[in-house]
Amino acid sequence: MTALPPPAGGPLDLDPEELRRLGHWVVDRTVEHLTTLRDRPAITTASYDDLVAVLGGALPVDRRPVEEGLELLADVALEHQQHGDHPRYFARVPGPSSPVAILGDWLATGMQAIASSWGGGSGTATLELVALGWLRDALGLPAAAEGVLCSGGSMANTTALATARAEMGPGIVYVSDQTHSSIGRSLRALGWDAAEIRVVPTDASYRLTGAALGAAVAADRAAGLRPSVVVATAGSTNTGAVDELVGLAEVAAEHGLWLHVDGAYGGPAALAADRNGIAGLDRVDSFVLDPHKWLFQPYDLGCVWVCRPGALERTFAMHPEYLVDAQAGGHGPDGEADLHNRGFELSRRARGAKLWLTLRTYGLPTLVAAVQRGVELAEVAERLVAADERLEVVTPASLGVTTFAVVGLDDAAHRRVAADVTADGFAALTSTVLSGRTVLRLCTINPATTDDDLRRTVALVAALATGVGGRGGDGSPR
Ligand SMILES: *Cc1c(COP(=O)(O)O)cnc(C)c1O
Repeated sequence: MTALPPPAGGPLDLDPEELRRLGHWVVDRTVEHLTTLRDRPAITTASYDDLVAVLGGALPVDRRPVEEGLELLADVALEHQQHGDHPRYFARVPGPSSPVAILGDWLATGMQAIASSWGGGSGTATLELVALGWLRDALGLPAAAEGVLCSGGSMANTTALATARAEMGPGIVYVSDQTHSSIGRSLRALGWDAAEIRVVPTDASYRLTGAALGAAVAADRAAGLRPSVVVATAGSTNTGAVDELVGLAEVAAEHGLWLHVDGAYGGPAALAADRNGIAGLDRVDSFVLDPHKWLFQPYDLGCVWVCRPGALERTFAMHPEYLVDAQAGGHGPDGEADLHNRGFELSRRARGAKLWLTLRTYGLPTLVAAVQRGVELAEVAERLVAADERLEVVTPASLGVTTFAVVGLDDAAHRRVAADVTADGFAALTSTVLSGRTVLRLCTINPATTDDDLRRTVALVAALATGVGGRGGDGSPR
């Protein structure tokens, strides 16, 4: 293809009409993606060699038509992914983003939105503060909780734990055998050494209990050590288990511990009127949830709240000479704030735009109903597994997660079944390990999933595992 002549305006310009036309192309491709997803594979992967043969080569020297690159993006690069928004993507944690959130993100990108200092982005900071305030109140977090948006659960938890470390000083931190792996990484990176991290065993339902925490704290006290922070989980990634938060809050209060709750996965379930079993959020010191998991946002977006007034700013504020003109300096749950002083990021994407637009457009009851559908779908999955004599339920439905096993199959065969289902393309699911046993896991948080999607997926698992029957279990085509 021949090189294009330089544009009339600046060296990077696109003609406005050309930009409009290409923008429409991007919108059309996105709509096509969303409307044909159900008929395409849930996960597509290829080798590096195959991908780089199309996407790599020497760094271009001549200007090329944008279409060429856009088509490679859409047809090749963005096609080879886990499609977390696919209605039969049940692997790991899906990412069923919503069209309204996509629009909010696009507009913020187009307008080069930043949410850093107050002076540098008062409108974007207000979106973030308002959205965090709406969610704080709907979740029943303390009214004094101050929040900030991050790239996801890993950074949100790291922000909370860095704050806990700064406020509490060194000491022993308690996690469970079901705590998300990124928490261990954060603790190590923040300076906790292995001798200061206690992994407390969970109960038969994979929950951290107040009794188990109390015993571990008492043992450390007796040894002259200083208990400091407990990390609880509201919706574990493995089984959707919710730790005994009220019991943990009591132990934390008795021993002066910082109670951090990781709701990166399950947190949105607490928006329901009955909180789906996530009680006690009014007693936490910090809380995290990931809207890019179960609050219908495109990547990336995590929320963290810290309930001790001023603690985020005490941990993260900086006032260099080149920023003072833009800073508001204030803090508090509401009111002017320099959001770069509440976490690790200085130049920050205005992640509040998509979240605010989602909350403002759909309203809370619609979003809660969409979350609740995920809770129900896991119950449907549990019933389907229980009704199939080739399968057995391992952990019952909990916050959108059901785990199960194929009767008589060993660990390696379970991993093979997960790979076979995914390779088939009809659906995607993953294995996990519970109490040393490899099992299959369905995470069902996409409100576009139908009962029939689950019925066919469970039947496909059973058929591939036992070599009997076809797709959908009844020989029907997808
Ligand atoms: C996914 C997850 C995390 C990490 O969140 P990211 O957004 O992937 O960084 C932390 N904790 C739990 C419980 C999770 O499910």
